[in-house]
Amino acid sequence: MSEKKIATTAVRAGINSDQHHGAVIPALHLSSTYALKGFNEKRQFDYSRTGNPTRATFARAIAELEQGAVGIVTSTGMSAVHLICQLLNTEDTVVIPHDCYGGSFRLFTHLAKRGQFNLVVVDQNDQTALSEALAKKPKLVLLESPSNPLLRLVDIAAITIQAHNVGALVAVDNTFLSPALQQPLLLGADIVFHSTTKYINGHSDVVGGVLVAKEQALGEELAWWANCIGITGSAFDSYLALRGLKTLPIRMKQHQINANAVAAFLQQHSAVERVYFPGLSDHPQHELAKKQQYDFGAMMSFEIKGGVEAVKVLFDKLKFFTLAQSLGGVESLISHPSTMTHAGMEIEAQLAAGITQSLIRLSVGIEDIEDMIDDLSQALDASQA
Ligand SMILES: *Cc1c(COP(=O)(O)O)cnc(C)c1O
Repeated sequence: MSEKKIATTAVRAGINSDQHHGAVIPALHLSSTYALKGFNEKRQFDYSRTGNPTRATFARAIAELEQGAVGIVTSTGMSAVHLICQLLNTEDTVVIPHDCYGGSFRLFTHLAKRGQFNLVVVDQNDQTALSEALAKKPKLVLLESPSNPLLRLVDIAAITIQAHNVGALVAVDNTFLSPALQQPLLLGADIVFHSTTKYINGHSDVVGGVLVAKEQALGEELAWWANCIGITGSAFDSYLALRGLKTLPIRMKQHQINANAVAAFLQQHSAVERVYFPGLSDHPQHELAKKQQYDFGAMMSFEIKGGVEAVKVLFDKLKFFTLAQSLGGVESLISHPSTMTHAGMEIEAQLAAGITQSLIRLSVGIEDIEDMIDDLSQALDASQA
């Protein structure tokens, strides 16, 4: 499927599938259980933890968008990550990036501490460290690109080849871009997963996750575990996320227009020390972003002059950027990684990762771009007074 087909797939998911009434939009099936046709005569669905028509429609849509064989809808993004851990035995090794999502970092480090697998944490752009990690013949290599909050990229195709050479499975967290802007399975990965809480649902009213396996057998094994441990997503959340999904490609277009404008504005503002955005030509992986992504995304971060005092004034003066964690909704959000998303990290570890007190993260929404720039402009000016 080419990139231009994504909008069609997103919009048409589940449409015209109702055999009984011809309902254009697929129904929301809340029933927990399904009647058998007769003795030992099951229908397609029997119990909603195992399978639900609404969830199945959403799962098929995401699998098609990511071009994998099997989609699994989970209760949260974290339960999608946890589902992958079901593939691991105590003697297995897992390689994760040093700057992966904080919740993923917490899950992998705490499960490893309890002896569920061996863990190697590396900077995956450090080829020596990566090669040493791969020499341990890991079962799984986790990738996340771009990373949070500094928008660092890793070369998904190149690392996947190296990982496959040592027999590892590759799973990619694609939350920051969505399948509209990056398709890791086409870059060689075996598993792609998302927090649908972010761009896929896009309206900040669902917490959910999804995982897609490229191959049928791996997908079936993961689907078996999802039912076994009971982490499948609810019908209602699936209904809402499927509704949000229809506008994903068009939302991403506007997110992109706005993000490009905000990044250019920030870069020339005297209150801004530095902007981290893959779309800027001075971003160290700008060329890689152009190669492996369809566009740059709408997440960015920047350092403000004047330290934490300036940060406080900025947050206080902004009207159209809400001070909140999370990302990927139609509304613009602003956050302070050091005291919010990354507060669980020691200050020394934060600094080692490049997270300073002056670092601010933006999830650029789809409001009117002039309003957003005007708002940022007055608040940045005030922050330097
Ligand atoms: C939010 C997020 C998660 C976790 O998803 P939840 O839906 O909050 O459980 C995982 N990875 C990334 C990159 C995220 O942004």
